Amino acid sequence: MGERFAGRTEIVQRFLDLRRDDALGQSYLFAGPEGSGKELTALEIARLVNCRQPEICAAAPACESCLKTLSFQHPDIRWICPAPASITDSEVSDLFSRKRDDPFYQPSFVASSEVLIGDPDRPGAFTVRSLLQFLRVRPFQGALKTAIVADAHRLRAGAANAFLKMLEEPPADTLIILLTSLRGGLLPTILSRCQVVNFDPLAEDELSAMLGALYDIPVDDAQAFSRAAAGNARRAASYRLPMARAMRAWAAQLLQSLADGRRGAAQVAAEQIHKGIVPDGLAEAAEAAAVSRVRIGQAKELTEKRERAIRLCETLLLYYSDTMGCATRGEGWRPRLAEDVALIRDLAARRTPTGLLHDIEAVERAREGIDRNLNIGLVMAVLFQELSHAFQKDRAATGA
Ligand SMILES: [Zn+2]
Repeated sequence: MGERFAGRTEIVQRFLDLRRDDALGQSYLFAGPEGSGKELTALEIARLVNCRQPEICAAAPACESCLKTLSFQHPDIRWICPAPASITDSEVSDLFSRKRDDPFYQPSFVASSEVLIGDPDRPGAFTVRSLLQFLRVRPFQGALKTAIVADAHRLRAGAANAFLKMLEEPPADTLIILLTSLRGGLLPTILSRCQVVNFDPLAEDELSAMLGALYDIPVDDAQAFSRAAAGNARRAASYRLPMARAMRAWAAQLLQSLADGRRGAAQVAAEQIHKGIVPDGLAEAAEAAAVSRVRIGQAKELTEKRERAIRLCETLLLYYSDTMGCATRGEGWRPRLAEDVALIRDLAARRTPTGLLHDIEAVERAREGIDRNLNIGLVMAVLFQELSHAFQKDRAATGA
C-alpha cells in the first residue's frame, strides 16, 4: 500500500488555521460532485483537530488518537451514512474495516437508503438519534466532538428536523460537517445553518497521482482510470476492481449488438438484469466481491440488482459520452476509454449527434427510474428498445 490520500489539503489547512485562531464555526456543509474528496477531507479535519501533535501526525499519523480515527474507532468522532434500519452491528463493523482499507469503499445499500431518525429506545449506529446522543456528551479524549454525515441530502424529513434543532444550538466543543453532492436536496433551514465549503472535481493529474498512491496500480492504468472518471475519485477508484472491468465488457458488448442490429441480445440483457442473472465474467467478479462480504438479509438481492443496473447505466453513459466526443470533436478528441478506441470510432461513424444525445437522455432517464425504485426489468427493456430504435434511425441517416 502506498501513501495516504488525505483529501483536499488546502481545505484541511484552512480549517486548522481557523481552529488555531479560535475562529472555527460549528456547522459546515461540504458541497461538491461525487468523488471530489469531501469525505476524506472531513475525516482528515476530524483527525487533526483531535490530535495533540498535529505537526507530527499531519504527514504520517502516529499517535493513538490518529490511529483510532483512521480505523473509525475514535470515541469523539462519528461518521454516519444512509443505511437501512435493519443494518446489524457486524455489518457496521465490516463497513468500517473495509473503509479503513479502501477510503472509497461504498456499500451497495447507500444508493438506495436514507439517513433515518432511528428508534427512540434503540437507535441504530447510522441514525440521527444516535448521532445526537453522541454530540450531547462532552468529549472523552479529544478536544472537539466531530460528527460527519455523508449524503446529507438523504436525510429523511423527520431526521432532518431532529437534526435542525442540533444545528440551531450545538453544544460547546462540537464540529458538525454535512457532506452532499446535491445541495438542492437539503432543507433550506438546514442549509441556512451551515457555512458552505465548495469542492471542485479533482484534476486529472491529481486524481491519477492519488490512485497510484492509494492502490499501487501501474501509472498507465491510473491515468486511464482518471481520464474515464472525469474527476470523480470514487468512480476512478472503482475502475481497478474486476466488477468494473466486467461491467465495461458487458456495456461494450451490448452497444456492439445494438449497432449490428441484434436487438435480441439487448432484450436478453434486460431479462438478465431483471432476474438477477449476471453474464459469466460479471458473475466471477461479483463472486470475488462477495467473498468477504457480510450478507445483508433479503433486501440485499434487490439492492444488488439495482446497483448492477445503475452501474450498467453509468458505464453506458461513459461509452456514449466518449462516442459523442469522437463524433463531434474530430481530431481534437481525446478518448476517455482508451482501450476501446476502435469500438468507439466505429460507433461514432454510425451515429448522428442528435441520435447520441437522445440515447444519453434515455440512459439518464433509466438511471433515475431505477433510483426511484421502478421495476428494473421494465426500465431496462424500455431503455434497450429506445436505444435500438435510435440506432436504426441513425443508420438510415448516416448510411453506415
Ligand atoms: Zn495524531
